[in-house]
Amino acid sequence: MELVEAGPRQVTGWTETSRTGVAADHAFGLHTLPYGVFTDATRPQPRIGVAVGDAILDLTAASATLVPEHVALFRGGNLDALLAAGRATWTAIRTALTCWLTDERHAEVLAPLLVPVTDATMRLPFTVADYVDFSSCEQHATNLGRILRPGQPALPANWRHLPVGYHGRAGTVVVSGTPVSRPSGQHRLPDGIVVFGPSSALDFEAELGFVVGTPSALGQSIPLTGFADHVFGVCVVNDWSARDIQAWEYVPLGPLLGKSFATSISPWVVPLDALGAARIRPPVRDPRPLPYLDDTGAEPWGLDITLEVRLNGELISRPPFGGMYWTAAQQLAHLTINGASLRTGDLFASGAVSGAAPDERGSLLELSWNDSAPLTLADGSTRGFLADGDEVSITATAPGPEGTTVGLGEVRGRISPS
Ligand code: MN
Repeated sequence: MELVEAGPRQVTGWTETSRTGVAADHAFGLHTLPYGVFTDATRPQPRIGVAVGDAILDLTAASATLVPEHVALFRGGNLDALLAAGRATWTAIRTALTCWLTDERHAEVLAPLLVPVTDATMRLPFTVADYVDFSSCEQHATNLGRILRPGQPALPANWRHLPVGYHGRAGTVVVSGTPVSRPSGQHRLPDGIVVFGPSSALDFEAELGFVVGTPSALGQSIPLTGFADHVFGVCVVNDWSARDIQAWEYVPLGPLLGKSFATSISPWVVPLDALGAARIRPPVRDPRPLPYLDDTGAEPWGLDITLEVRLNGELISRPPFGGMYWTAAQQLAHLTINGASLRTGDLFASGAVSGAAPDERGSLLELSWNDSAPLTLADGSTRGFLADGDEVSITATAPGPEGTTVGLGEVRGRISPS
């Protein structure tokens, strides 16, 4: 049976290929299906959507037809109910969406439920419960040790035994596009004088964030094998960092105001289910981790994801996530080994991602080696740290099934004056 053409559709990406309607090589192709929350000019109330090519399928409207048994999960104006629903429901909904989207016979039903992504304003996708930031990249940790603690061992004694981390500020996690105001605070000048004022060492950290769906009870630890039962998906994170404030305050208890002014996340949460083809074995660990962290012989949770950092549109770094020393599964096992419970919406970030090459470093602190070798941009200007008006964009991609690319979208933010 041939479909009758119902007139021009407004959404590109949906009309471009024949069978599925979405170009197979689109980073938000049918193999990705990330979830987000959006508004548009006609509907100011937040709606849940899934990205399909250059369009958003409005699940708040479409769920009654596509997944009628799950409509309640798409009515809250954020992903919280979906996150709490658990692995079996996440998989069932993804399977149903894939069936609907891959069958051309459904195109007429779906077309009016698609919103061009250019018409949408993206919102913070879920209520961030607790926020933890790790430091699980050996290259980044080594670079920071060399820069900040010259003459001492680059890695602290604990670093290869546990995923080092700190509790951040959940309430200041903001969605991509939110302006970031240059923070003020205390810092110590090279001559030892302590002053107050706007940070002059504002930086980014290119990271990935893992979003907890299924909660856990107080006293329960999550083993490495429980990772996919509890973690729903992944977003891109920029852990904005004021290095001068951080350097003065972080001894002995770690970062506080140098990090808590803002953390930006991408608006799309990519389900773990989309990252099957990206899973790789993490690096060999020496010494062998204690049993609760030992993933030797377990299903590996290394992820072959490449980040790209752009400063004012210019590509300045391509950090490789695949070399991370500790995986997200080990981070989650460590977070809960003391019996700390998980809440739906907990976000834990990987730590800045840096590769061995100079153009793979995940922060300006490393790229400019603490302002001793400033970057020269295409317009001839130089940067040791971020200037007012600078815009930082971090994107990420992973290999998908059958040679496709899974996109994780973009986290973007512009620095406004103090
Ligand atoms: Mn960080």
